[in-house]
Amino acid sequence: VLQLGMPTRSVVTTCAYCGVGCSFKAELRGTELVRMVPHKDGGANEGHSCVKGRFAFGYATHPDRRLKPMVRERITDEWREVSWEEAIGTVARRMREIQAAHGPDAIGAISSSRCTNEEVFVVQKMVRAAFGNNNVDTCARVCHSPTGYGLKQTFGESAGTQDFRSVAAADVIVVIGANPTDGHPVFASRMKKRLREGARLIVIDPRRIDLVRSPHIEAAHHLQLRPGTNVAVVNALAHVAVTEGLVDKGFVADRCEGFAEWAAFIARPEHSPEAVEGITGVPADELRAAARLYAGAPNGAIYYGLGVTEHSQGSTMVMGMANLAMACGNLGRDGVGVNPLRGQNNVQGSCDMGSFPHELPGYRHVSDDAVRTVFEKLWDRPILADPGLRIPNMFDAAVAGSFRGLFVHGEDIAQSDPNLQHVTAALTAMDLVVVQDLFLNETAKFAHVFLPGASFLEKDGTFTNAERRINRVRAVMKPKSGKHEWQIVCEIATAMGYPMSYTHPSEIMDEIASVTPTFTGVSFELLDKLGSVQWPCNPQAPEGTPVMHVDEFTRGKGKFVVTAYVPTDERSTRKFPLILTTGRILSQYNVGAQTRRTENVAWHREDILELHPHDAEVRGITDGDTVRLASRVGQTTLRAHISDRMPTGVVYTTFHHPVTGANVVTTENSDWATNCPEYKVTAVQVGLAI
Ligand code: SF4
Repeated sequence: VLQLGMPTRSVVTTCAYCGVGCSFKAELRGTELVRMVPHKDGGANEGHSCVKGRFAFGYATHPDRRLKPMVRERITDEWREVSWEEAIGTVARRMREIQAAHGPDAIGAISSSRCTNEEVFVVQKMVRAAFGNNNVDTCARVCHSPTGYGLKQTFGESAGTQDFRSVAAADVIVVIGANPTDGHPVFASRMKKRLREGARLIVIDPRRIDLVRSPHIEAAHHLQLRPGTNVAVVNALAHVAVTEGLVDKGFVADRCEGFAEWAAFIARPEHSPEAVEGITGVPADELRAAARLYAGAPNGAIYYGLGVTEHSQGSTMVMGMANLAMACGNLGRDGVGVNPLRGQNNVQGSCDMGSFPHELPGYRHVSDDAVRTVFEKLWDRPILADPGLRIPNMFDAAVAGSFRGLFVHGEDIAQSDPNLQHVTAALTAMDLVVVQDLFLNETAKFAHVFLPGASFLEKDGTFTNAERRINRVRAVMKPKSGKHEWQIVCEIATAMGYPMSYTHPSEIMDEIASVTPTFTGVSFELLDKLGSVQWPCNPQAPEGTPVMHVDEFTRGKGKFVVTAYVPTDERSTRKFPLILTTGRILSQYNVGAQTRRTENVAWHREDILELHPHDAEVRGITDGDTVRLASRVGQTTLRAHISDRMPTGVVYTTFHHPVTGANVVTTENSDWATNCPEYKVTAVQVGLAI
């Protein structure tokens, strides 16, 4: 006799929250999901999980889900439920009308790092083959695009160097601009285990994150730098390595190029810890000691997050870390490396799949004739050799009137992107905004057509985690809307005159493998056999590649790049004397669309502003007061939390709640190479709300 509520079957799938990519057994009774049990064979999590993956799946059946396509009535501005046929026909017709009236480049799409590789692949294919342009970008634009750029320049591959397991061999761990305890909890546990075993820890962060001092762990150095001065800090670390003879000369001579020019630059006195102390706020002796610790370690590993990338010099900083690691010989084996901790479940994958306006799948530039020819032959369509528009360029062009139709796939740009006033102006200006999502999110307020998406429990496909691990996502139920997301995209392309059809996502993966050298060996069959695989997976590495750049770098020699520190334009002023930096917390997730709709997890029900006791006192603010947070572009109100985690002059908040809308204050500043927004440095003022 079955016990009431006991599961009767299970399906192995992958968590759809963060870039750790934990594997779970979804246990069901009939068609009802009873519980998520962390899978002991999961390559990324080995049987562990955090609270989100384990419990935060209630959003999938939340009454807010929209399950029918809708079109907004032009006269009444009300949503009207329509058939799939009408919705898809409307999107295709109006996209074509825009192109006829304003040119082929007047439309584009934004894909999502929350979606599967297969879904992302078909979105960029639709744009290139059916729209006929390269106007496709991914939400990785606003998080890890500098990682892609910086690691490609220096190592030749836009991906982290290590598998998670590698941390167990690190002697010194450097955490820069990341808060793994909240952002990547299961990997944080692996890291903490190594730290409890005796590895030394260096934290580089303006905020005193939990890792600095937690049970049985104490950072050897916490470099509490001023926001925006990362590059000055990493250059100073490298300066010490070079001028104190801590460089791994053999590694540099055998494996790298450009060292002499870079070393001459970095050895200049203006890069010394003493010279940059006034810029960074980090005591010179602390910085010097941290450099000696990292450079002198048998194995030094760098892990970093958005506190590195979301700056005007995000790409420079990524290259600065790569320089430091190469100089100290910390690449190509266990326990070392330069490792981005990816935020969303499929940031790595969405970038791998070619959803950038300048790159086809596998990070190959659209201007490469040979690469374009491969895709043109396969897709039977010409592909433009010029890059398309990035997300911020789309917004600018929309406001200017030349970009008028946008397909937004699983992203809430009206909450997540910076300088929301500009984003909403762009959305308002467009003739057609199509939102494909689970919920009527903030962006849908500006949409003309809404296409219901599917939750991860309704999807078949793959996600690629932060360690390049391709994990299978398996459906435990049929899509509640009646259509798979990849199917919807294919039907739009078909209705626009470019037939696209597959019978299963495995066929999409087969197509990806046929045109992407790092994925040549990947198939659903292989993933079912091995459980997961880390790319590159091809004839040279049929079972994948846990650690990259072992004998040589992807580009041959690792390349030292001169990384000059350039202060951001965003400075504190008399009117806006504080610097705001943003981040996230364990119980919520990004714009909160899922976690805010999951009662058992969402215990942080509002965004809070953390500020130092001194900054609070001089403003007459006490803990729990409602305060006004203002920058030169906008203002909002939220509750204050007084905390000595923050240094004086720096305040911190999250962006999980649309009511707070923290991004109304963040600005248009962005990374010089990739336009990744500078979320981490905004000059603000804080005062009691009246
Ligand atoms: Fe999901 Fe990340 Fe938590 Fe793992 S650590 S269960 S992937 S949210």
